[in-house]
Amino acid sequence: MNALKALFGGLWRIFQGMGLTLRTFFRPKVTVRYPYERRPVSRRYRGMFYLKWNEEKQRLNCVGCTLCAQACPTDVISMNKIGKGTTAGVDEFVMDLGRCMFCNLCVEACPFDAIYMGDRYEFAVTEKEGSVLRIVDLAQGGPENARRNVETLMRLQAEAADKAKPGEGPKPQARPAEEGA
Ligand code: SF4
Ligand code: SF4
Repeated sequence: MNALKALFGGLWRIFQGMGLTLRTFFRPKVTVRYPYERRPVSRRYRGMFYLKWNEEKQRLNCVGCTLCAQACPTDVISMNKIGKGTTAGVDEFVMDLGRCMFCNLCVEACPFDAIYMGDRYEFAVTEKEGSVLRIVDLAQGGPENARRNVETLMRLQAEAADKAKPGEGPKPQARPAEEGA
C-alpha cells in the first residue's frame, strides 16, 4: 500500500513539474540574448560620463573651473585648464572610473552644464589603466571633437591676445592742422 502511495505521489509531482514547464513555455519571455540584445535603461540611469559638445561655439562647454573635481568625494577628476575668462577651457580632462561611485555629485556641481552621465553601462576592462578615461574618451563626439575644442580655444586666445596688443585699438583722430597739411 505504501509503495503504491509513493508511486502515485511521485507521478503527481512529475505532472506538477511538467505543468509548470508547459505554462512557462507559453508565457512571454523575460530574458534577452545579451550581448546581442539589450534592454533599454531608465532615463535617469547613471552610466558613462560625457563632456558636452557645443556645436554652435565649436567647443566643449567645460571651462576648467574644477568645481566638479572639488565636489567629488573620491578624487576621480583632474584636468588641465587653458585660457581664462571667456577663452577658458580644458585641453585635458581625466577621470579614473575605478574610484567612481556614480553618485552624480560632479554633474550637479557643474554650473555650465558641461558634464553628464549617459546610459552606457559596460565598463569592464582587463587592465587597471583601462579605467582611466581622458578627454578623447569623454568628449561627446570623441577624439575629433576633443581636437576641435583645443583648436577653438587656441583661436579664441590668439584673437584675445591680438586685441590686447598695444596700438591695435582704434586709431587716434588726426588734429585739424595735420588734416590741412
Ligand atoms: S559620480 Fe561621484 S564619485 Fe564619480 S566622479 Fe562624479 S562625484 Fe566623483
Ligand atoms: S565639467 Fe563643469 S564643473 Fe567640471 S571643470 Fe568643467 S565646467 Fe567646471
